[in-house]
Amino acid sequence: MRNLSFYERFSRTFREYPSISRFLVVFAVSGGGLVAYSEGNIQTGAKIDELPEAGSEKKRVVILGTGWAGTSFLKNLKNPSYDIQVISPRNYFAFTPLLPNVTVGTVEARSVVEPIRNIIKKKNLNVIYWEAECYRIDAKTKKVYCRSSEKDKEEFVVDYDYLVIAMGARVNTFNTPGVEENCHYLKEVEDAQKIRRTVIDCFEKACLPTLSDDERKRVLQFVVVGGGPTGVEFAAELHDFVSEDLVKLFDKRIATFAEENFHRDGIDLRTGEMVVKVSDKEISTKVIKTGETSTIPYGMAVWSTGIATRPVVMDFMKQIGQANRRVLATDEWLRVEGTNSIYALGDCATINQRKVMEDISAIFQKADKDSSGTLTVKEFQEALDDICDRYPQMKNLPATAQVAAQQGSYLADCFNRMEQCTKNPEGPLRFREFGRHRFRPFRYKHLGQFAPLGGEQTAAQLPGDWVSIGHSSQWLWYSVYASKQVSWHTRSLVVSDWMRCFIFGRDSSQI
Ligand SMILES: Cc1cc2nc3c(=O)[nH]c(=O)nc-3n(C[C@H](O)[C@H](O)[C@H](O)COP(=O)(O)OP(=O)(O)OC[C@H]3O[C@@H](n4cnc5c(N)ncnc54)[C@H](O)[C@@H]3O)c2cc1C
Repeated sequence: MRNLSFYERFSRTFREYPSISRFLVVFAVSGGGLVAYSEGNIQTGAKIDELPEAGSEKKRVVILGTGWAGTSFLKNLKNPSYDIQVISPRNYFAFTPLLPNVTVGTVEARSVVEPIRNIIKKKNLNVIYWEAECYRIDAKTKKVYCRSSEKDKEEFVVDYDYLVIAMGARVNTFNTPGVEENCHYLKEVEDAQKIRRTVIDCFEKACLPTLSDDERKRVLQFVVVGGGPTGVEFAAELHDFVSEDLVKLFDKRIATFAEENFHRDGIDLRTGEMVVKVSDKEISTKVIKTGETSTIPYGMAVWSTGIATRPVVMDFMKQIGQANRRVLATDEWLRVEGTNSIYALGDCATINQRKVMEDISAIFQKADKDSSGTLTVKEFQEALDDICDRYPQMKNLPATAQVAAQQGSYLADCFNRMEQCTKNPEGPLRFREFGRHRFRPFRYKHLGQFAPLGGEQTAAQLPGDWVSIGHSSQWLWYSVYASKQVSWHTRSLVVSDWMRCFIFGRDSSQI
């Protein structure tokens, strides 16, 4: 290959990367000063009067939430025949499985988030994002009522033809007194950042000369309430942070206290007990069987006992006759029961499966094509095929990112093929009505799960019920989580954070 001259390389770079030329022009004009440069095609947020109007040719799709479900739906939506509006108080997507890493600084907060506008920018669709929270859904008038996240909390109303509710869930405190005031949650990126600061604060506080030994012990006692995957993962991360990094940096006496509290086998596991009250220094517990009570002094407590429905969703459930349910119920096509153009995905919803026995007489009536009162072998076989299609055997699905992401991509696929499948339905036979369903019902495919145990070890359960525990699973965990990042930007940040942590250890500053 011939060597390119400097001029040829220069002009080729300009042609291939036009943004460089724009940058240079701005740089030259400003004489090196600071110039706020914004690319023309970035969505800067439309005004209210730019909202798609009722009766416009394009159907208006409103997505509530930018978490796993909402983002997966948005990323997979390709059909240009919709006007899409995304409403969420959070203008970014957060990769929640790495939040326990953020609590101790193994990974930085910025590395696990992707701005929603970056995702929108890559889509060749008509998408508007509003930084606001929805406080009311009106299914009758097809409107969502929103409040801006800005200081003035301005309110506005958005019309929809299709609504996708992907608002996730809130932390469940079971109304335990003192939890909100004294405990940390681990749900959002900000929670993880607060935990990190508090852990380091506790260590700094324990160094103060004014503290008694008893106080010092209390301050270095960390309590995790709830034994689910999130709580266990956080405890493992905290153990590594304390034993690998903090004890090396602090006074020897502090290190001894911390090691005593956090000796690997010395993590005190208390099952069969419930927390009844939390004060600023103690957690009161009750043994469920005997009713015996006791207190645990603590320096920091993390509350991780599961999730509950958000008030706006509960209010909506009352409106559509689901007041007696705990979670918003949908059918197998993710359509909210009792509505016809509202879908719900992820942690805020559950699929209410119809049972074969509820429809058994309708199934046999439909299968008996010649109305003879009996089924031939062929008719019976056809009925069984339709049953397998219509009633996918699913257990109650867990509230995980995996479920939320698969639901988002399933629904986007349905929206992408809406016109095609309305003309030529591809779903199973409708047993109680005429014709076929437009789409096949949602099916969940479990791709396995990881439980990081700390000390560079992970328990992995993979498809085919293959289970592995140890260092090799940790490497698998690294590669899977790196590959699951939503962009090359976050992927490179996460991998470089892991490398930084491996070489230099975690940072102990309060920032
Ligand atoms: C620390 C931690 C670790 C986890 N680890 C794993 C794991 O390893 N594997 C796994 O599969 N799952 C894991 N999960 C669970 C997983 O994160 C959730 O199941 C998943 O986030 C659910 O997705 P979602 O879209 O339903 O809700 P979310 O991801 O919570 O998103 C909800 C969205 O709705 C927005 N919203 C909230 N209120 C409103 C409103 N009023 N109006 C509009 N928008 C609103 C929020 O800002 C957010 O953008 C973990 C969760 C946590 C907290």
